[in-house]
Amino acid sequence: MSGHAKLSRVFWRFYGGLIVLVAVLAVAGAWAAIRDVHGQEIADAEGDLRHFAYLFREILEPALAKGDAAEASRVAAFAAAQDIRLTIVDPQGRVLADSDADPASLDNHGQRPEILDARRNGFGQSHRTSKSTGEKTMYAAVSVVHDRRLIGFVRSATTQSDLDKREAGRVRQAMLGAGGLACAALIVGLMFTGHLDRQFRGEIALMLERNALYDELRASQERFQLATRATSEGIWDWDAKTHAMSWNEGYYRLLACERDAVAPSFDARIDRVHPDDRQTMADSFDEFLTSDRSVWTAEYRLRKSGGSYVWVFDRAFIVRDDRGTPVRVIGSMMDVTDRKQAERMKSDFVSFVSHQLRTPLSGMNWMLELAAQSPGLPSAASDHIADARESADRLATLVNDLLDISRLESGRLQVVIAPVKVGALTRAIVDEAQPLVRDKGHRVDVTTADERTIEADEQLLRQAMGNLLSNAIKYTPSGGTIRVAVTQDNGFVQWTVTDSGIGIPKTSQARLFEKFYRAENALAAETEGTGLGLHLVRLIVDQFGGQVWCESDEGKGATFGFALPASEARS
Ligand code: ADP
Repeated sequence: MSGHAKLSRVFWRFYGGLIVLVAVLAVAGAWAAIRDVHGQEIADAEGDLRHFAYLFREILEPALAKGDAAEASRVAAFAAAQDIRLTIVDPQGRVLADSDADPASLDNHGQRPEILDARRNGFGQSHRTSKSTGEKTMYAAVSVVHDRRLIGFVRSATTQSDLDKREAGRVRQAMLGAGGLACAALIVGLMFTGHLDRQFRGEIALMLERNALYDELRASQERFQLATRATSEGIWDWDAKTHAMSWNEGYYRLLACERDAVAPSFDARIDRVHPDDRQTMADSFDEFLTSDRSVWTAEYRLRKSGGSYVWVFDRAFIVRDDRGTPVRVIGSMMDVTDRKQAERMKSDFVSFVSHQLRTPLSGMNWMLELAAQSPGLPSAASDHIADARESADRLATLVNDLLDISRLESGRLQVVIAPVKVGALTRAIVDEAQPLVRDKGHRVDVTTADERTIEADEQLLRQAMGNLLSNAIKYTPSGGTIRVAVTQDNGFVQWTVTDSGIGIPKTSQARLFEKFYRAENALAAETEGTGLGLHLVRLIVDQFGGQVWCESDEGKGATFGFALPASEARS
């Protein structure tokens, strides 16, 4: 859920809670008020009835003392005009006057409970169904005494329906009051909440966001810790600012020691690297820190606690700040000793076999040469000898390539680095290839405007250039054009050979420099080859810190080239 949605939910809970609270208070208040209204109404009605009974007794006493029935009727009519029900009764219970009815139609009231009470106590009241009207009615009666003589009763009454009407009015008022109060409470509450809302919305939003971030961070930290514990790889984490280093269990397993045996630090890490690999590894790491790359890889030997070494493949990822300054580097190391051993064995084997093949091969070649020079040789035999010499040559090339590759891969090749004049070397190689060029009727243009030198092993460089040129000759149908160019670009010398040959399908281009790889169209054209030449070129160019590439449109020719750093001084 988004932070905004969470925030709205919090505030809606708040507003919702406030509204429910006010509604509950309003209902409870109204209910209490209604209950109170009912009791109050009855008490008020009783009070009023008593009040009227006593009031009219004062008014009627003189008339009753004189037995003036007409005056009593007038007073009853006056009471009717005031909506007061009044009944005037003589001491025998006969009705003298009534505000609502003709006295003649009314029966004797002497036994009415309120009259009986008034006769006994001077005052009586009752709630009952009226015998005259059949309605539920409340009565209050007082005796009228003159000169210590009972001269009659005055009774006031009100019906339940009147009472209900008055009560309904009061309930309405109470409800309106409660509703008004609820509205006022709600408005004040909302204003207050709005104020809180404005004041705290920002802070609460921030708090929710922080909570969410914290949860996420904790989850990812847990994941990271589990992953570092679960992996068999050695993981190291280096803070580039504080130089603090931490290692996981896997790292200690690689070092074959307990956690407390070595304290993780940058120096402890370097110290465990094999002395022969240390400088190269440290230099490449320093170069990586100042570069703009995000991934660093290296293979080196790491000393275990017992003193033996493991080969590790170390791959690190760097975190940089906005200005590109390293903040943190996290790396993982894998034990590749088995792979390294297998590679070494393979390379030793290839090297051994190639080496052993070389001597008999040279012997064979020498014998064939002698045989070719034998006088009086039939022409068929000399053709066979020529074919055999060609095959022996190809075999020798293959063996030499295999030997060179295995030496370059294992780093056991003696490399003699010296300044090489690229232009002169190119012209020499093109000259040497002239017999092949002539055989196929190609035209070769050479542009070597740049006479800069590069630091390299001339023999290896010759081999790389020769391989690329012989490919161009081989994969171009007779009568083609080949251009060899030496140019200079940004501190690098570029060497390219462009032909008008069969070219390379796009799908094959990425794999050309792999060992033994040959493209489909080269196989289809039935050209001789081993798929080792370009691999050797890449190994040689890598050896001198350069880069090799290929550009081609199938059927339209190809350009192969490499770039090597130029030497500082001009030749
Ligand atoms: P080989 O030529 O012995 O097969 P390489 O390693 O020299 O081995 O070349 C690998 C493959 O690259 C070749 O088999 C061919 O498919 C392709 N290739 C190399 N050079 C050219 C070129 N100039 N034109 C077309 N294809 C080429």
